[in-house]
Amino acid sequence: MSESIPSLFQRLTSDDARKAFYAGLKGPAWWLGGNKRGPEFGWVEVFVKSDGKCVYCSRDLAASTDALAESTEEHLVPRSLLEASGVRFDNEHNMAVCCAGCNGLKNEALPPAGHPCWKSRKAFIKECSRFVAECRLKNFQKYKTHVENVLKKRAGQ
Ligand SMILES: [Zn+2]
Repeated sequence: MSESIPSLFQRLTSDDARKAFYAGLKGPAWWLGGNKRGPEFGWVEVFVKSDGKCVYCSRDLAASTDALAESTEEHLVPRSLLEASGVRFDNEHNMAVCCAGCNGLKNEALPPAGHPCWKSRKAFIKECSRFVAECRLKNFQKYKTHVENVLKKRAGQ
């Protein structure tokens, strides 16, 4: 087992910090690409284009109505970051389908401004998927004993 490396992702807590972070981003603003959100392009189109799968963990959100109920709309680059700088946050390339679990884990977390993942949507999704998996692992490690105890009790052990 490798040693756990602390994540470099961060969550900004003020609009001034968000503005400064956004101003420091370099490279193509891929999150502004694609269709504009509107009557012709909304959640249904995002869901269909994503094949109904969570952008981070690939969970099939079209598998059942229960799974669908846990489907959320994800702004890849957090809405709060873009809004603070008066930038559109809901263009197609910034939107994805996401399960509620992954969306809650990622929240407003941001890779460092100089991270190479900012260069493309694909690289950004890959790095955020890694971050979400890291959060899930930390949760698992934190709660595994409690879950085990509940399951043992249910199994009469
Ligand atoms: Zn997911």
